[in-house]
Amino acid sequence: MFKRILIANRGEIALRIIRACHELGIESVVIYSQADKDAKFVQLADRALCIGPANATQSYLNMPAIIAAAEVTDSQAIHPGYGFLSENGDFAERVQKSGFVFIGPDPESIRTMGDKVLAKKVMQKTALSCVPGSEGELPDDMEQVKKIAKNIGYPVLLKAVGGGGGRGMRLVHTEAALANAVLMTRSEARAAFGNAGVYLEKYLQNPRHIEIQVIADHHKNVVYLGERDCSMQRRHQKVLEESPAPNIPRRLIEKLGEKCVSSCKKLGYKNAGTFEFLYEKDEFYFIEMNTRVQVEHPVTEMVTGIDIVKTQILIANGQKLSFKQKDIQYRGHAIECRINAEDPYTFIPSPGRINHWYPPGGPGIRVDSHIYTDYQVPSNYDSLLAKIIAYGENREVALGRIYNALRETVISGIKTNIPLHLALLSDPGFVAGGKDIHYLETWLQSKNH
Ligand code: ADP
Repeated sequence: MFKRILIANRGEIALRIIRACHELGIESVVIYSQADKDAKFVQLADRALCIGPANATQSYLNMPAIIAAAEVTDSQAIHPGYGFLSENGDFAERVQKSGFVFIGPDPESIRTMGDKVLAKKVMQKTALSCVPGSEGELPDDMEQVKKIAKNIGYPVLLKAVGGGGGRGMRLVHTEAALANAVLMTRSEARAAFGNAGVYLEKYLQNPRHIEIQVIADHHKNVVYLGERDCSMQRRHQKVLEESPAPNIPRRLIEKLGEKCVSSCKKLGYKNAGTFEFLYEKDEFYFIEMNTRVQVEHPVTEMVTGIDIVKTQILIANGQKLSFKQKDIQYRGHAIECRINAEDPYTFIPSPGRINHWYPPGGPGIRVDSHIYTDYQVPSNYDSLLAKIIAYGENREVALGRIYNALRETVISGIKTNIPLHLALLSDPGFVAGGKDIHYLETWLQSKNH
């Protein structure tokens, strides 16, 4: 087993990985930026190295500094968490070439899935269907682009080939708006992702976002760990996730899970991954694959009892999966609320000092968070403060528990989106379950009137 793992991340996920290391008897090393010198993950790791200033390009995205930190601490493996360098194939390759184990899939898999057009092409060769759209990247010739869009049928969604995090997408309703939209999306994509490539997809009107968690070892064993429903979104970003997905027949999920497993086998995929789909009228359309641990992985851990982060480490160490598909049993229901430092209705970020933090507790409550009383939330990174997760023997119990947990949570000194979650959890539409990806935004608009 590894003796020491370096964690190339921060915040709650760094803490989550430290905990997995400690459970496995592995020493944890973290790198951090000057803005995070007082962070909990820095205090709880066995060793911590400051590698640069607050600006992520000079710290959490600084490949040579991270690899040097692994060298001086004599670490054997690097866990990238999510975000930052986790889906950077070049980083994974540099880690491996420097003699460390990258806790994740091969650099080739990361690169293939990071190119959304290539990912769709590859998936079409397996049994998965994709959202109808352009065959690959759009050409420069606007007349041709117009023809492609017309064939797909408006409204269409323009997407950046290298996009991620809900960015690099533009909805186009008419041919008149197309040319300008393509130019704008291309230039934004060049600036944000270093790749001006764009493609088109049919804009689905009322889909749900359903994703399948997979986990694969280096010995050709692949297992899927059920699904997550991540349809509650704002600006294409997830706000609340749950498992299982309400009101979808189990046999459809099982069929989809089996297809994901066979795709992984075909692609030789290793470690944890998530297949993301849009679900409409009993059909699943592949949109992308995330080649890393997801923010919302705890809901799957709660209903399957499988520790995904520990399993990632064991797989990277060459061990076989200790469970087979038939061993996976889904018990009860789990709901995760992402607690962000932001105004609950304007969504303006609210960094600053937390005067008081009182986390919730009681049966079935899990809190993954790096904050504490007097913690200064930096303005340099994403605004996630905590993930509050509730488990119950069924959805009704989980809903009651998450609601009560949020009511007893105290985070004072800064604004958070807890009031938004509480309002959503009291909404009869949400409580009924199975709402689509537009539900939250439409509901927000109706509240503003
Ligand atoms: P990202 O990598 O930026 O997260 P995704 O391709 O995963 O981008 O899409 C994020 C979200 O955008 C989806 O969950 C869904 O809400 C919306 N979306 C993506 N593709 C479509 C589509 N073809 N039609 C309608 N909504 C879409």
